[in-house]
Amino acid sequence: MTIYVSTRGRAGRRSFEEVLLAGLAEDGGLFLPESWPRLPEARLRALDGADYPTTTAAVTAPFTGGAFEEAELLALAREAYEGFAHPATAPLRQLDPTLWLLELFHGPTLAFKDFALQLLARLFERVLERRGETITILGATSGDTGSAAIRAIAGRARMRIVVLHPAGRVSEVQRRQMTTVAAANVTNLAIEGTFDDCQEIVKKLFADPDFRSEQKLAAINSINWARIAAQAAYYVYAALRLGGLERPVSFCVPTGNFGDVYAGHVARRLGLPVGRLVVATNANDILARFLATGTYAAATVVPTSSPSMDIQVASNFERLLFELLEGEGARVAELMDRFARERCFTVSRAIHARARELFEGGAADEAATRAEIAHWHGATGGSVLLDPHTAVGAAVARRLRPSLAGPLVLLATAHPAKFPEAVETACGVRPPLPAHLADLFERPERYTVLPADPAAVRDAVRRLPPLPA
Ligand SMILES: *Cc1c(COP(=O)(O)O)cnc(C)c1O
Repeated sequence: MTIYVSTRGRAGRRSFEEVLLAGLAEDGGLFLPESWPRLPEARLRALDGADYPTTTAAVTAPFTGGAFEEAELLALAREAYEGFAHPATAPLRQLDPTLWLLELFHGPTLAFKDFALQLLARLFERVLERRGETITILGATSGDTGSAAIRAIAGRARMRIVVLHPAGRVSEVQRRQMTTVAAANVTNLAIEGTFDDCQEIVKKLFADPDFRSEQKLAAINSINWARIAAQAAYYVYAALRLGGLERPVSFCVPTGNFGDVYAGHVARRLGLPVGRLVVATNANDILARFLATGTYAAATVVPTSSPSMDIQVASNFERLLFELLEGEGARVAELMDRFARERCFTVSRAIHARARELFEGGAADEAATRAEIAHWHGATGGSVLLDPHTAVGAAVARRLRPSLAGPLVLLATAHPAKFPEAVETACGVRPPLPAHLADLFERPERYTVLPADPAAVRDAVRRLPPLPA
């Protein structure tokens, strides 16, 4: 039975169900398994050639602590990934003799976040059914997370989702991916303000105890443990396809919140032999700087062409810190408190060395990102178009590859058509939307414009029809 503890050591021991619904621990920390479950090598070997849902069920079962049987997980995973536009769900595409692209953009909203959220919504639904509860999921988005969450929650029983986006400040593709979903349990609010205003409103409403308990507010942000566990599956799936049990495969991962690349570490802890895990950042390079120097120091966020990585505080980094500090929650809490006050801390040389054994880092600026899109477009006669997030990873991968042995897999985190302007600027080609979204610009939109005022949002949520229990 897998038990979860908080990275700050001051929350109780929790079950998978509690961790799934809670998101953040009550002491402000993140949940982690008290000890790492393992998939025996024979189990991994048996997954060689298995389809994607089967791999997901096998990888996530050890983390659910008995709350879900593997057969039930398999049924949910089959449903979650059924609508993906590629029969392999997460296909590998070979770019050159040692570099592969793992295409994680065939889901309904064209980014890797669909992998975790499509499964998570179904886990939520099951748990709420068992408990006879309902929830209101409330979140703010600057683009990708909101659309993936809306698509996953749409039409599911016992829950609704309310997403705030900054009016006029998300791309048209991103807005339409949210506002054209017709389900009755989806509410889009366009806030007259910035993304920070949206986040501030959500924070205030979560901090209002009456509203919070009346609505049974829940979040599905990237610190939710179940999202990480679900993402570990595609590392296992890709590695096994490249003979990863005989020759460890390395991964290069475009990173913002440290969630996706951390899932690779979870696959490693589960027993998958992994070569190197490369953390690739854009100009917002707090993680690359930490790996280079041992100092974790926030800088001002600069907007880039890979907006989903424009992050200076990588929430999931706290999970790595907990492990580097050998599970001493009090020390994690102390460092995170210092970071909250001074926006900076430095770890000892021994701990820095340990972090570098686990992860390698690199950054690509805007010029390098554009050049990378152009490079692959040219080198493949136009058949490979990288989105700007994937291009950041590709630039770092090509730079570090001489020092990496064996096959290297680059995670393609978004479809190029999700960021058509950036791709067109870099290589002159405007990527078309895939067939399943071709009519996105004709579908009717539904959203309400509200002032940047928590009371206005609170009243709008209170006016929603009650959820059938
Ligand atoms: C969210 C996102 C990322 C960053 O993922 P993290 O888990 O935050 O590291 C990278 N690329 C795309 C396209 C994303 O949507």
